[in-house]
Amino acid sequence: MDPLISLPLFFFFILISVLLIARAPFGDAWGKEGHIMVCKIAQPYLTETTSKAVLDLLPEVAAGELSAMCPWADEVRFHYRWASPLHYVNTPGVCNYKYSRDCHNSKEEKGMCVVGAINNYTDQLRRRGDSSNHYNLTESLMFLAHFVGDVHQPLHAGFAADEGGNTIVVHWYRRKTNLHHVWDTSMIETAMKDYYDNDLDAMVDGIMSNITGGWEDEVDSWENCQNKQATCANDYAVESIHLDCNYAYKDVEQDSTLGDEYFFTRLPIVKKRIAQAGLRLATILNDIFDHENRQEIQSY
Ligand SMILES: [Zn+2]
Repeated sequence: MDPLISLPLFFFFILISVLLIARAPFGDAWGKEGHIMVCKIAQPYLTETTSKAVLDLLPEVAAGELSAMCPWADEVRFHYRWASPLHYVNTPGVCNYKYSRDCHNSKEEKGMCVVGAINNYTDQLRRRGDSSNHYNLTESLMFLAHFVGDVHQPLHAGFAADEGGNTIVVHWYRRKTNLHHVWDTSMIETAMKDYYDNDLDAMVDGIMSNITGGWEDEVDSWENCQNKQATCANDYAVESIHLDCNYAYKDVEQDSTLGDEYFFTRLPIVKKRIAQAGLRLATILNDIFDHENRQEIQSY
């Protein structure tokens, strides 16, 4: 082939590849940014053994970054319809959560909610050595990392009647949206724009500096729970519904306009939930892949 023709073509393909890769982790939307942040926070808390095990399971497209795969479960939502109820749990309009009452899908199948999913995928990964375990463990890992993020978004454990705030129409400053979206995406986007120059890594650094700074006295308690099944996910849902009643739903009605007052009082909750999700994901993964060295993260 004439090198004068092939060379520009070669550069054209490189350019297209770079553009596609650059676009991949970003987009419209614990929207994409929230999930990426949770996993970026988790990553430095993984022990060496855990990091290696995670790396072995990640698909090539992740390029070694767990965070690149954390929005994946939302991207396959329409393809994996059975997994749709696994992103959340609803309560019957009450400010408490009970696994036996609330963790099911619309067909009343038990365990088909975000808490059941976290326990289930943890269990699949724990049994990775069993010859009878035929699960796709790459998918188990990507689901687990995503759902630990979801259960920390308070409105992913909200009221059934308003679908976790999805049917509550609000204005986020001047923009019409719904309450669920405000918590998934709008508050994170506004914070990134107002305080972090639209730089996701800068917001991650800001949240991480609070883990060793402002929240330092609480951090140990984040890794424990009263209500342990395979994981502490039950307690994370309980925390979320309490945050809904005390913050997310509070003083919000159909057609409310939410602005500075709501943003300034709720943003600290959003940041803390992202931090908790990141640390707890690391704890769960270390427990799965490096049980003996689990203690290391406490002294990180
Ligand atoms: Zn989700």
